[in-house]
Amino acid sequence: MPGYNNPMGNSPLEVKVISKRFGVPNNTSLDVFVQHDGYKALKKALASTPEDVINIVKNSGLRGRGGAGFNTGMKWSFVPKQSAKPKYVVCNADESEPGTCKDRPLMEYDPHQLIEGIVIAGFAIQSHQGFIYIRGEYRYLLDIVDKAIAEAYAAGYLGQNIQGSGFDFELCTHTGAGAYECGEETALLNSLEGLRGYPRIKPPFPAVVGLYGGPTVVNNVETLSNVPHILLNGAEWYANLGSPKNGGTRLFCLSGHVNRPGVYELPMGFPLRRIIEEVGGGVLGGKKLKAIVPGGSSCPVLTMDEIDVNMDYDSVAKAGSMLGSGGVVVLDEDTCMVKFVGRIMRFYAHESCGWCIPCREGTSWLKHLFDRFNAGGALPGDPDTALDVSMNILGKTLCPLGDAAAMPTISILKKFRHEFEEHLQLGYCPHEKKVVSV
Ligand code: SF4
Repeated sequence: MPGYNNPMGNSPLEVKVISKRFGVPNNTSLDVFVQHDGYKALKKALASTPEDVINIVKNSGLRGRGGAGFNTGMKWSFVPKQSAKPKYVVCNADESEPGTCKDRPLMEYDPHQLIEGIVIAGFAIQSHQGFIYIRGEYRYLLDIVDKAIAEAYAAGYLGQNIQGSGFDFELCTHTGAGAYECGEETALLNSLEGLRGYPRIKPPFPAVVGLYGGPTVVNNVETLSNVPHILLNGAEWYANLGSPKNGGTRLFCLSGHVNRPGVYELPMGFPLRRIIEEVGGGVLGGKKLKAIVPGGSSCPVLTMDEIDVNMDYDSVAKAGSMLGSGGVVVLDEDTCMVKFVGRIMRFYAHESCGWCIPCREGTSWLKHLFDRFNAGGALPGDPDTALDVSMNILGKTLCPLGDAAAMPTISILKKFRHEFEEHLQLGYCPHEKKVVSV
């Protein structure tokens, strides 16, 4: 992409596993990849049994990096061994969560690492076909990933009888059209089948009935990129990199009002305060912190008093939010939270697929309510109405997009209620001293 800057940060506190080849010249080429341990893990997996591969990944504590945080090996183990229909591995590269930009460098700087992880996943569940579903806006990555796939075919890491093992695996890319909803795994599968990107009712889960009705594993780019390192170095090594039940490292996408924004690879469980202060160099301009989005726009925000939390799935959940997709957004003391939540809701109202009423109507109503606040025309009951609408979305929708819209909104309405009251009293934004448009 012309003018695209390397988003990777660089901190001595990083533990580089999946980003370790990012700085290597010609790192997207097969030769360089192979010189740096590439495809060794695949050979090791092919010399093993599918059950052993699943167990190693299960015991490593690798959890899905797309947001849900489910144990990856466990997910693979749900795929039936015998199936009348073909099985599939689908790589979810539809990275669309605002604040998240980690799958992009993984595909741009180390596409073979991802391919290797996908083939290992295929071997583990005994699938012979994989797809990489790439976000529409990431179209420029297609050339890079397709070139790597062609190289892998030519060198016998894809195709028939991979490395003489008798195992066959085909892989291709597929682009989405830029819909956030297609990051939801069942909507993605519909889109991949050429259908409208509506989610499917679960159960059945894709592991049993997925793409074209066959058992399907859907894993995120970052999740699959970790797999070769687990196979090469062992489950225990990987588990010990992180915190209990949260193995490995995590790519954190640090953005917002921070001195050193970027994508940083840090051990799971790394303290959030240290991410902001030491890795990111503190709040921009020496200002005070107001709030943090810990894992992408769909997560409840944390206030400055809540940032002493370790960044793993369980600790962040205990603190009342989610690790999500690793998008850490720093908001300084001058941020207008009314404007912020209005901007978020514009996104969700736009991206709602419209299939279920609480999400379709609720996100639009919330957008209108917050627009009214920001335009200086809010009514005294509006904060309560917004909370009521949000509570009637939460847990009542067909897919997680409804919750993704409701959760940050509820947290902001509860934790920053005084800012809504100030807007009501003044009739304009106290931060910007004027009515604002979001
Ligand atoms: Fe569509 Fe929203 Fe319902 Fe999901 S929650 S199915 S995005 S309308």
